Amino acid sequence: MDSVDAYLDDILAAIRPLPPRELKLADALGAVLTDDVTAQYPLPSFDNSAMDGYAVRAADLTGATPDSPVVLPVDGEVAAGETGRRNLVPGTVIRIMTGAPMPADADAVVPVELTNAGTAEVAIRQAVRPGNAIRRTGGDAQPGDVLVTAGTRLGAVHLGVLAAAGRAAVLARPRPRVTVISTGNELVDPGGPLIPGQIWESNATMLAAAARQAGCPARRYPIVRDATDAVLAATQDALADADLLITSGGVSMGAEHDVVKAALQTLGTVRFRKVAMQPGMPQGFGTLGSAGTPIFTLPGNPVSAYVSFRLFVRPALDALQDSYRERGKLPQAVLTAAVRSPEGKRSFLRGVLDGPAGLVTPVSGQMSHQLASLARANALVVVPEQVTSLDAGETVDVLELP
Ligand code: AMP
Ligand code: MG
Repeated sequence: MDSVDAYLDDILAAIRPLPPRELKLADALGAVLTDDVTAQYPLPSFDNSAMDGYAVRAADLTGATPDSPVVLPVDGEVAAGETGRRNLVPGTVIRIMTGAPMPADADAVVPVELTNAGTAEVAIRQAVRPGNAIRRTGGDAQPGDVLVTAGTRLGAVHLGVLAAAGRAAVLARPRPRVTVISTGNELVDPGGPLIPGQIWESNATMLAAAARQAGCPARRYPIVRDATDAVLAATQDALADADLLITSGGVSMGAEHDVVKAALQTLGTVRFRKVAMQPGMPQGFGTLGSAGTPIFTLPGNPVSAYVSFRLFVRPALDALQDSYRERGKLPQAVLTAAVRSPEGKRSFLRGVLDGPAGLVTPVSGQMSHQLASLARANALVVVPEQVTSLDAGETVDVLELP
């Protein structure tokens, strides 16, 4: 049996990051930049007003007070979006709006609040310093300044600054596209009737949603019957538009019904093994096709599948963008009840974490088919391999669930 850590190391070592692509900003949320993006132009690109008010020569306002305001003629106005350059005649002012270009020879803006807001002439109650309320060319960024660094996962504000700097597209590694294939003769789509012996399919819905929760576009493939040729055809077909494949079911240890294992073993690039964990012992991972697309063959039991996604697929999604970083220590909490765990396996027990109180309560129902109990949990209690029981009051590592 392999340890959880050794298995994850093997997965990460086998994954080649997706090649960077030129992505339009609208498609780049969550993509990871491969090069620094620098400003080509100053930001802002012209001197402009920071406020609604009057463009002035500061020297014309000397001595202005509320009791003896300086009154000056208003020589028209300039609004944001005007591209012609106005000239300020000494001894006059120009009404100016936020974002409008500063008239030549004006050296300050008086906010409208310091005036009587006059239109033909204006009474200004206070002198201002040269430069007042002016947004200078390059005051936010200078040409050559790094706006977003290589390795950044692009969020809303990064995309905003790229747009503000005039970029329409960037070179970045896109979010991997995920397809989830469920296998099993017993599976039926939810919404329709069941006959005894059948169950409603849940894993593909859950795992595709988990991938989306991790920011990746993901889809659920139509249910595949337990036949090796059907499994091979489905993986081949899904490979066309996926950067990572997940199968569920068909990888248990024995029977010829384990068709995923039987089908993919023939390719020679997918390895099946036992991992020392509970739930989720039977695992398979490998790569497919010329792109080396990673495939995870997760166990069919829903809780095993979900825990496996969290432990192995989630890091792989980051690795595909070359953005996997080892997490520091897990948060800890104090158990409110005793738990047991098999010798030699790392257990991931469903629990309800009360973060502020620092307490975690194991839920009842820890078998790997018990998805309802996973739905009641918000965390997994991690019990190390060599530990077989823990009492209430002992401190444990917890993996929070999104
Ligand atoms: P398997 O890994 O195919 O041996 O399946 C193990 C258990 O998980 C069986 O009880 C299956 O019925 C169940 N199972 C397999 N696939 C799914 C699925 N997609 N949704 C819900 N349960 C499943
Ligand atoms: Mg099955």
